[in-house]
Amino acid sequence: MTQTAEGQIVASHGRSFRVLVDQQIYECTTRGKRTDLACGDKVTVRISNQQQAVIEQVLPRQSLLYRADDWREKLIAANVSQVVIVVAPFPSFSEEFLGRCLVACEATDIQPLIVLNKCDLPEAETAKAQLALYETLGYRLLPLSAKQSVASLQPLLTGHTTVLIGQSGMGKSTLINALLPAAQARTGDISLALDSGKHTTTHATLYPLDAESAIIDSPGMQEFGLTHVSGDQLAHCFPELRPYIGECRFANCRHLSEPNCAISQALATGTLTERRVMLYRKLRQLIDKK
Ligand code: GDP
Ligand code: ZN
Repeated sequence: MTQTAEGQIVASHGRSFRVLVDQQIYECTTRGKRTDLACGDKVTVRISNQQQAVIEQVLPRQSLLYRADDWREKLIAANVSQVVIVVAPFPSFSEEFLGRCLVACEATDIQPLIVLNKCDLPEAETAKAQLALYETLGYRLLPLSAKQSVASLQPLLTGHTTVLIGQSGMGKSTLINALLPAAQARTGDISLALDSGKHTTTHATLYPLDAESAIIDSPGMQEFGLTHVSGDQLAHCFPELRPYIGECRFANCRHLSEPNCAISQALATGTLTERRVMLYRKLRQLIDKK
Protein backbone atom coordinates (compact mmCIF):
# COMPACT_ATOMS: atom_id res chain seq x y z
CA MET A 1 0.00 0.00 0.00
CA THR A 2 1.47 3.37 -0.95
CA GLN A 3 0.45 6.79 0.24
CA THR A 4 1.18 10.30 -0.99
CA ALA A 5 1.91 13.15 1.41
CA GLU A 6 3.32 16.67 1.55
CA GLY A 7 6.54 17.40 3.38
CA GLN A 8 9.63 19.56 3.50
CA ILE A 9 13.25 18.66 2.76
CA VAL A 10 15.19 19.04 6.01
CA ALA A 11 18.53 17.70 4.82
CA SER A 12 20.07 17.32 1.40
CA HIS A 13 23.12 15.46 0.30
CA GLY A 14 23.63 14.88 -3.38
CA ARG A 15 20.84 12.58 -4.42
CA SER A 16 19.62 11.66 -0.96
CA PHE A 17 17.23 13.78 1.00
CA ARG A 18 15.48 13.66 4.32
CA VAL A 19 11.93 14.83 4.26
CA LEU A 20 9.86 15.79 7.28
CA VAL A 21 6.23 14.66 6.97
CA ASP A 22 3.98 15.15 9.99
CA GLN A 23 6.82 15.05 12.54
CA GLN A 24 8.31 12.01 10.93
CA ILE A 25 11.48 11.84 8.87
CA TYR A 26 11.79 9.77 5.70
CA GLU A 27 14.89 8.91 3.73
CA CYS A 28 14.12 9.87 0.17
CA THR A 29 15.42 9.58 -3.31
CA THR A 30 13.89 11.46 -6.20
CA ARG A 31 12.02 10.15 -9.14
CA GLY A 32 14.38 10.35 -12.12
CA LYS A 33 17.37 11.00 -9.83
CA ARG A 34 16.83 14.76 -9.82
CA THR A 35 19.48 16.70 -7.95
CA ASP A 36 18.05 20.20 -8.42
CA LEU A 37 16.30 20.08 -5.08
CA ALA A 38 17.37 21.78 -1.90
CA CYS A 39 16.89 21.95 1.81
CA GLY A 40 13.69 23.88 2.48
CA ASP A 41 11.92 22.63 -0.64
CA LYS A 42 8.30 21.68 -0.10
CA VAL A 43 7.62 18.41 -1.85
CA THR A 44 5.11 15.66 -2.34
CA VAL A 45 6.35 12.19 -1.52
CA ARG A 46 5.14 8.68 -2.07
CA ILE A 47 5.72 6.80 1.14
CA SER A 48 7.24 3.37 0.63
CA ASN A 49 7.55 2.23 4.23
CA GLN A 50 8.11 3.66 7.72
CA GLN A 51 11.53 5.04 6.85
CA GLN A 52 11.55 5.54 3.11
CA ALA A 53 9.75 7.58 0.53
CA VAL A 54 10.23 8.85 -3.01
CA ILE A 55 10.02 12.55 -3.84
CA GLU A 56 7.50 12.95 -6.62
CA GLN A 57 7.11 16.67 -7.07
CA VAL A 58 8.62 19.96 -5.93
CA LEU A 59 6.04 22.58 -4.98
CA PRO A 60 6.47 26.19 -6.18
CA ARG A 61 9.37 27.97 -4.48
CA GLN A 62 9.35 31.39 -2.87
CA SER A 63 13.10 31.84 -3.18
CA LEU A 64 16.29 30.04 -4.09
CA LEU A 65 19.79 30.51 -2.71
CA TYR A 66 22.94 29.28 -4.37
CA ARG A 67 26.35 28.87 -2.91
CA ALA A 68 29.58 29.62 -4.68
CA ASP A 69 31.51 26.41 -5.08
CA ASP A 70 34.68 26.97 -7.06
CA TRP A 71 33.29 28.13 -10.36
CA ARG A 72 30.13 26.12 -10.23
CA GLU A 73 27.08 27.04 -8.27
CA LYS A 74 25.03 24.71 -6.18
CA LEU A 75 21.54 25.12 -5.01
CA ILE A 76 21.76 25.41 -1.24
CA ALA A 77 18.34 26.28 0.11
CA ALA A 78 14.80 26.96 -1.03
CA ASN A 79 11.96 28.99 0.44
CA VAL A 80 14.30 31.07 2.58
CA SER A 81 12.79 34.38 3.69
CA GLN A 82 15.65 35.76 5.78
CA VAL A 83 19.44 35.57 5.86
CA VAL A 84 21.37 36.25 9.05
CA ILE A 85 24.89 37.38 8.16
CA VAL A 86 27.09 36.74 11.17
CA VAL A 87 30.09 39.03 11.61
CA ALA A 88 32.32 39.65 14.62
CA PRO A 89 34.85 42.21 15.81
CA PHE A 90 37.48 39.52 16.28
CA PRO A 91 38.80 37.90 14.20
CA SER A 92 38.01 40.80 11.90
CA PHE A 93 35.38 40.15 9.25
CA SER A 94 35.67 40.80 5.54
CA GLU A 95 33.55 43.71 4.42
CA GLU A 96 33.58 42.29 0.92
CA PHE A 97 32.04 39.07 2.24
CA LEU A 98 29.31 41.11 3.92
CA GLY A 99 28.73 43.16 0.76
CA ARG A 100 28.46 40.07 -1.41
CA CYS A 101 25.95 38.49 0.97
CA LEU A 102 23.85 41.65 0.86
CA VAL A 103 23.92 41.59 -2.96
CA ALA A 104 22.78 37.96 -2.97
CA CYS A 105 19.91 38.88 -0.64
CA GLU A 106 18.87 41.85 -2.79
CA ALA A 107 19.01 39.76 -5.95
CA THR A 108 16.77 37.06 -4.49
CA ASP A 109 14.50 39.40 -2.53
CA ILE A 110 15.40 37.83 0.80
CA GLN A 111 15.56 40.02 3.90
CA PRO A 112 19.08 40.32 5.32
CA LEU A 113 19.83 40.81 9.00
CA ILE A 114 23.40 41.64 10.03
CA VAL A 115 24.28 40.17 13.41
CA LEU A 116 27.40 41.55 15.04
CA ASN A 117 28.40 38.75 17.40
CA LYS A 118 30.96 38.85 20.25
CA CYS A 119 29.86 42.28 21.48
CA ASP A 120 31.34 41.32 24.85
CA LEU A 121 34.77 42.02 23.28
CA PRO A 122 36.30 45.52 23.53
CA GLU A 123 36.85 45.60 19.74
CA ALA A 124 33.04 45.68 19.28
CA GLU A 125 32.91 49.49 19.26
CA THR A 126 35.17 49.73 16.22
CA ALA A 127 33.11 47.09 14.41
CA LYS A 128 29.88 48.95 15.24
CA ALA A 129 31.33 52.14 13.78
CA GLN A 130 32.34 50.26 10.63
CA LEU A 131 28.85 48.76 10.32
CA ALA A 132 27.00 52.05 10.84
CA LEU A 133 27.22 52.57 7.07
CA TYR A 134 24.95 49.57 6.50
CA GLU A 135 22.33 50.95 8.84
CA THR A 136 22.30 54.18 6.83
CA LEU A 137 21.67 52.01 3.75
CA GLY A 138 18.59 50.61 5.45
CA TYR A 139 19.92 47.26 6.66
CA ARG A 140 19.10 45.96 10.10
CA LEU A 141 22.02 45.51 12.48
CA LEU A 142 21.72 43.50 15.68
CA PRO A 143 24.69 43.57 18.07
CA LEU A 144 24.77 40.68 20.54
CA SER A 145 26.98 38.16 22.25
CA ALA A 146 26.08 34.54 21.52
CA LYS A 147 28.00 33.57 24.65
CA GLN A 148 25.76 35.77 26.79
CA SER A 149 22.29 35.72 25.21
CA VAL A 150 20.47 35.24 21.92
CA ALA A 151 17.15 36.50 23.33
CA SER A 152 17.22 39.63 21.13
CA LEU A 153 17.56 37.50 17.99
CA GLN A 154 14.84 34.95 18.75
CA PRO A 155 11.79 37.15 18.01
CA LEU A 156 13.34 38.17 14.68
CA LEU A 157 13.28 34.55 13.55
CA THR A 158 9.55 34.09 14.12
CA GLY A 159 7.62 33.45 10.93
CA HIS A 160 10.79 33.08 8.87
CA THR A 161 12.90 30.38 7.36
CA THR A 162 16.32 31.82 8.13
CA VAL A 163 19.69 30.86 6.71
CA LEU A 164 22.73 31.72 8.82
CA ILE A 165 25.94 32.51 7.00
CA GLY A 166 29.31 33.71 8.20
CA GLN A 167 33.01 33.36 7.66
CA SER A 168 34.54 30.76 9.94
CA GLY A 169 35.38 31.98 13.42
CA MET A 170 32.56 34.53 13.60
CA GLY A 171 30.58 32.34 15.99
CA LYS A 172 27.89 30.90 13.73
CA SER A 173 27.99 27.48 15.41
CA THR A 174 27.87 29.04 18.87
CA LEU A 175 24.86 31.06 17.75
CA ILE A 176 23.03 28.07 16.29
CA ASN A 177 23.72 25.97 19.37
CA ALA A 178 22.30 28.72 21.55
CA LEU A 179 19.21 28.99 19.35
CA LEU A 180 18.70 25.24 19.29
CA PRO A 181 19.68 23.80 22.65
CA ALA A 182 19.24 20.33 21.24
CA ALA A 183 21.17 21.08 18.05
CA GLN A 184 23.68 18.30 18.54
CA ALA A 185 21.02 15.70 19.01
CA ARG A 186 18.96 17.04 16.16
CA THR A 187 21.92 17.18 13.82
CA GLY A 188 22.54 13.55 14.54
CA ASP A 189 18.92 12.77 13.98
CA ILE A 190 18.53 14.59 10.71
CA SER A 191 21.81 14.30 8.91
CA LEU A 192 23.64 11.28 10.25
CA ALA A 193 22.03 8.70 8.07
CA LEU A 194 22.81 10.68 4.96
CA ASP A 195 26.49 10.73 5.79
CA SER A 196 26.84 7.14 6.83
CA GLY A 197 29.97 5.65 5.36
CA LYS A 198 31.04 8.88 3.72
CA HIS A 199 33.05 11.55 5.43
CA THR A 200 31.42 14.39 3.62
CA THR A 201 29.44 17.25 5.02
CA THR A 202 25.73 17.40 4.59
CA HIS A 203 25.02 20.38 2.37
CA ALA A 204 22.34 21.91 4.52
CA THR A 205 20.07 21.05 7.41
CA LEU A 206 16.75 22.63 8.32
CA TYR A 207 15.82 22.80 12.00
CA PRO A 208 12.18 23.62 12.72
CA LEU A 209 11.85 26.14 15.56
CA ASP A 210 8.07 26.07 15.64
CA ALA A 211 5.25 25.49 13.17
CA GLU A 212 6.07 28.63 11.17
CA SER A 213 9.78 29.20 11.80
CA ALA A 214 12.94 27.31 10.99
CA ILE A 215 16.64 27.85 10.62
CA ILE A 216 18.83 26.34 7.93
CA ASP A 217 22.49 25.69 8.58
CA SER A 218 24.91 24.93 5.81
CA PRO A 219 28.18 24.02 7.50
CA GLY A 220 30.43 24.03 4.45
CA MET A 221 28.98 27.12 2.87
CA GLN A 222 31.49 29.93 2.60
CA GLU A 223 29.64 32.25 0.30
CA PHE A 224 26.53 32.74 -1.78
CA GLY A 225 26.91 32.40 -5.52
CA LEU A 226 26.31 35.46 -7.65
CA THR A 227 26.39 34.03 -11.14
CA HIS A 228 22.62 34.23 -11.25
CA VAL A 229 22.90 38.02 -10.95
CA SER A 230 23.16 39.78 -14.29
CA GLY A 231 25.38 42.80 -14.91
CA ASP A 232 22.37 45.06 -15.34
CA GLN A 233 20.74 43.74 -12.19
CA LEU A 234 23.81 44.38 -10.06
CA ALA A 235 23.44 48.15 -9.54
CA HIS A 236 19.86 47.55 -8.37
CA CYS A 237 21.32 45.31 -5.63
CA PHE A 238 23.09 48.34 -4.11
CA PRO A 239 20.29 50.44 -2.55
CA GLU A 240 22.33 53.67 -2.63
CA LEU A 241 23.05 53.30 -6.37
CA ARG A 242 19.42 52.90 -7.39
CA PRO A 243 18.62 56.65 -7.62
CA TYR A 244 21.44 57.12 -10.16
CA ILE A 245 20.46 54.33 -12.51
CA GLY A 246 19.21 55.91 -15.73
CA GLU A 247 20.88 59.27 -14.96
CA CYS A 248 24.12 58.50 -16.82
CA ARG A 249 24.93 59.80 -20.32
CA PHE A 250 24.77 56.31 -21.78
CA ALA A 251 21.66 54.26 -21.22
CA ASN A 252 23.78 51.11 -21.08
CA CYS A 253 26.37 52.65 -18.70
CA ARG A 254 28.16 50.01 -16.63
CA HIS A 255 29.28 52.68 -14.14
CA LEU A 256 32.92 51.70 -14.41
CA SER A 257 34.76 54.53 -16.17
CA GLU A 258 32.27 55.79 -18.75
CA PRO A 259 32.11 59.56 -19.30
CA ASN A 260 29.31 61.44 -17.51
CA CYS A 261 28.44 58.52 -15.30
CA ALA A 262 26.09 59.68 -12.53
CA ILE A 263 27.60 57.20 -10.09
CA SER A 264 31.16 58.42 -10.77
CA GLN A 265 29.95 61.99 -10.26
CA ALA A 266 28.25 61.14 -6.97
CA LEU A 267 31.41 59.38 -5.86
CA ALA A 268 33.51 62.44 -6.73
CA THR A 269 31.28 64.73 -4.67
CA GLY A 270 31.39 62.35 -1.70
CA THR A 271 27.69 61.45 -1.86
CA LEU A 272 28.51 57.77 -2.29
CA THR A 273 30.89 55.67 -0.18
CA GLU A 274 34.01 54.66 -2.05
CA ARG A 275 34.30 51.11 -0.68
CA ARG A 276 30.76 50.32 -1.80
CA VAL A 277 31.25 51.68 -5.32
CA MET A 278 34.55 49.77 -5.53
CA LEU A 279 32.75 46.55 -4.54
CA TYR A 280 30.08 47.22 -7.17
CA ARG A 281 32.78 47.71 -9.82
CA LYS A 282 34.71 44.63 -8.80
CA LEU A 283 31.59 42.44 -8.93
CA ARG A 284 30.43 44.04 -12.19
CA GLN A 285 33.73 43.17 -13.85
CA LEU A 286 33.56 39.62 -12.54
CA ILE A 287 29.98 39.15 -13.72
CA ASP A 288 30.60 40.69 -17.16
CA LYS A 289 33.62 38.42 -17.71
CA LYS A 290 31.48 35.31 -17.54
P1 GDP B 1 32.04 29.48 13.55
O1 GDP B 1 33.30 29.08 12.84
O2 GDP B 1 31.48 30.73 12.96
O3 GDP B 1 31.03 28.40 13.65
O4 GDP B 1 32.49 29.93 15.00
P2 GDP B 1 32.36 29.21 16.41
O5 GDP B 1 30.97 29.18 16.87
O6 GDP B 1 33.10 27.91 16.37
O7 GDP B 1 33.15 30.26 17.30
C1 GDP B 1 34.47 30.66 17.03
C2 GDP B 1 35.11 31.13 18.32
O8 GDP B 1 34.47 32.31 18.78
C3 GDP B 1 34.99 30.12 19.45
O9 GDP B 1 36.19 30.12 20.18
C4 GDP B 1 33.84 30.64 20.28
O10 GDP B 1 33.94 30.27 21.62
C5 GDP B 1 34.02 32.14 20.11
N1 GDP B 1 32.75 32.88 20.30
C6 GDP B 1 31.54 32.59 19.77
N2 GDP B 1 30.61 33.48 20.20
C7 GDP B 1 31.25 34.34 21.01
C8 GDP B 1 30.84 35.50 21.76
O11 GDP B 1 29.67 35.91 21.77
N3 GDP B 1 31.80 36.15 22.46
C9 GDP B 1 33.10 35.72 22.49
N4 GDP B 1 33.97 36.43 23.21
N5 GDP B 1 33.52 34.65 21.81
C10 GDP B 1 32.61 33.96 21.08
ZN1 ZN C 1 26.98 55.18 -14.99
